[in-house]
Amino acid sequence: MISEIFELIEEEKKRQDENIELIASENFVSDNVLKACGSILTNKYSEGYPANHAVGNRGRYYGGCQVVDKIEEKCCELWKKVFNTDYHVNVQPHSGSTANFAAYFSVLNVGDTILSMSLNNGAHLTHGSPVSFSGRLFNMVFYEVDENGFIDMEDVKKKALEYKPKLILAGASAYSRIIHFDKFSEIAKSIGAYFMVDMAHIAGLIAAGEHPTPFGYADIITTTTHKTLRGPRGGMIFCKPELAKKIDSAIFPFSQGGPLQHIIAAKAIAAEECLMPTYKEYIHQVVVNCKAMCEEFKKMGYKIITDGTDNHLFLLDLTHKGITGIECQDMLDEHHITLNKNCIPQETRSPKVASGVRIGTAAMTTKGYKEKDFIEVAHRIDKLIDEFMKEKSV
Ligand code: PLP
Repeated sequence: MISEIFELIEEEKKRQDENIELIASENFVSDNVLKACGSILTNKYSEGYPANHAVGNRGRYYGGCQVVDKIEEKCCELWKKVFNTDYHVNVQPHSGSTANFAAYFSVLNVGDTILSMSLNNGAHLTHGSPVSFSGRLFNMVFYEVDENGFIDMEDVKKKALEYKPKLILAGASAYSRIIHFDKFSEIAKSIGAYFMVDMAHIAGLIAAGEHPTPFGYADIITTTTHKTLRGPRGGMIFCKPELAKKIDSAIFPFSQGGPLQHIIAAKAIAAEECLMPTYKEYIHQVVVNCKAMCEEFKKMGYKIITDGTDNHLFLLDLTHKGITGIECQDMLDEHHITLNKNCIPQETRSPKVASGVRIGTAAMTTKGYKEKDFIEVAHRIDKLIDEFMKEKSV
């Protein structure tokens, strides 16, 4: 008997094949990454770390780990190569959120102060939103963006001096400009705070040299592996070698049990793919495509947060168009264009409605889209918004 689930997987495959995917946090993995995700490694328990785990904790709590030890060690070695770093790496986090959870608790206690960007300005929920563990367990204080939407480094400095946070966090889910890790690091050093970077969105750009690196500046760096890195759904944590034991313990036994060895194998394969020259070309094209599409929206009179983009995404402010973020998302979904609503700086609507949409080019670039294709999609979106507004007004 074929489970109904397999029919639904086919249905989802068709959706992914046919839709134009503009969600900035999504991508399409290779057949090899998929193969590893679906492998028999899912059968294996391996709590703990490989016997020769570099500088962190060592040893497994189960027998029969000889093979998965080799896979996990190889995975760590490959990711260090991708980012050209001697930082320690932990490849076990099940997701970006659990990576952030463990990263915070490796050096902080409940109630400690974290200085981060707020959700409305482009941060992730785990960066201190009251609906996330981060906002519930830590004393969160936030730096702002300036009137043009750029991170206000003067405000970072001011809030750092005012609140004396134990950790300063940089990184975002919906920020389209370069993040100046060197400046953040200087501020963190000046007050003796840990400096953490969540590079989940821009990790691929950092790996390919299209965004300044946080390595050398940050004490702890978290990431997801499924966005611009084009790997399986999961997370990773890098840290300075002196924090290795703290990071490892914060993942296991503090916040996770058995690692997902099938996903770790898939992460290793994704790292091998990132090391290929074609990956650099891919990421470069992602950035070129993003600029081209963003410029086209500007030509058509759209307002863009920060008036442009340096990375794989940009934010359309739809306020003057009269359509809300959720209306735009739902309407485009009906026309097989997938994106997501997004809050804009100084948002006046609830996050469930939002005044903007976020557009990313990583996924469709994997499918071979070039500048002209994204420009065509921009015009299609514009036409559909116009038609929607006309219908709404009658
Ligand atoms: N950090 C950032 C910056 C993100 O954008 C995301 C997800 O979009 C996460 C963390 C959380 O990742 P996950 O969905 O794997 O928990």
